[in-house]
Amino acid sequence: MDVPTNAPEHCPGTESEQAGKADACAGCDNQQVCASGQTKLPDPNLPFITQRMSTVKRKILVLSGKGGVGKSTFTAQLAWAFAADDQLQTGIMDVDICGPSIPTILGIASEQVHSSSSGWSPVYVQDNLGVMSVGFMLPSSHDAIMWRGPKKNGLISQFLKDVDWGDLDYLLVDTPPGTSDEHLSIVQYLKESGIDGAILITTPQEVALQDVRREIDFCRKVGIRIIGLVENMSGFVCPSCKTESQIFKPSTGGGKKLAQDTGIELLGSIPLDPRIGKSADYGVSFIDEYPDSPASIAYLDIIDRIKVILGDQ
Ligand code: ADP
Repeated sequence: MDVPTNAPEHCPGTESEQAGKADACAGCDNQQVCASGQTKLPDPNLPFITQRMSTVKRKILVLSGKGGVGKSTFTAQLAWAFAADDQLQTGIMDVDICGPSIPTILGIASEQVHSSSSGWSPVYVQDNLGVMSVGFMLPSSHDAIMWRGPKKNGLISQFLKDVDWGDLDYLLVDTPPGTSDEHLSIVQYLKESGIDGAILITTPQEVALQDVRREIDFCRKVGIRIIGLVENMSGFVCPSCKTESQIFKPSTGGGKKLAQDTGIELLGSIPLDPRIGKSADYGVSFIDEYPDSPASIAYLDIIDRIKVILGDQ
């Protein structure tokens, strides 16, 4: 069972021996049910998830502290860059339930998910790039989703259990900003299958970095390896005069300093390039459109680092 969103700050967790018994549990709505031991029963979905995920070689979470730093755009471009190698099968699972932008960025927003006896089929952007997003489940992209924790968890467990990915080399999981129900669910459900690591996205600004520090703390607390940090929107080269300026100033040292302070690798820095936004709006691969741009080179270098860190190269 999941930790409720209104749990006390020092909640020992539903699976702990202290569940329902710790001082912090006093007054919590779930105290009785936790103390009864029912919450420690294994989730019946877990074996099915583990079985389904056994054909997925690498599971990577893409996290950001703040919204709007370019996490979904990064996930999409990274997936396209992985899929540029036709020997690799790549998938994206979009669990950003309240803001599923992956289908639009990949140009497949009008597609629908089909189900067969072997499960839900991902929507294919190309032969070796499949996508599953909550965006496909909505009647219209204008519909707001207002779901509470248990419903979100249900959808995530269904995604993990029922999507027929087939053999995948890399599954990129695009998560909502911050650390919320969705993150805890993913971590819990993939505990047995094993998460290979997380990539943290930030801009150079202190307001974004601050939230990334929380994300780092989250990863450390739940035992997820941090593959590295990516600084997005770092530097802008004016297309007319070629002068480089810092739109989002690294006033406190940016991603580089954060990486030094925390001992986390800075995988790369992606410049602010208006053509990235345009590619996302048109649902096309930036890397295919502008292969020689500094941003494309940065994406590809980041992939190389990820592969080296994971021991795949
Ligand atoms: P998040 O998933 O973190 O909320 P998005 O991926 O939706 O952020 O990106 C937010 C906005 O920034 C979008 O309009 C996107 O096109 C734009 N964007 C992201 N990265 C870049 C970049 N490197 N250069 C220019 N625009 C970018």
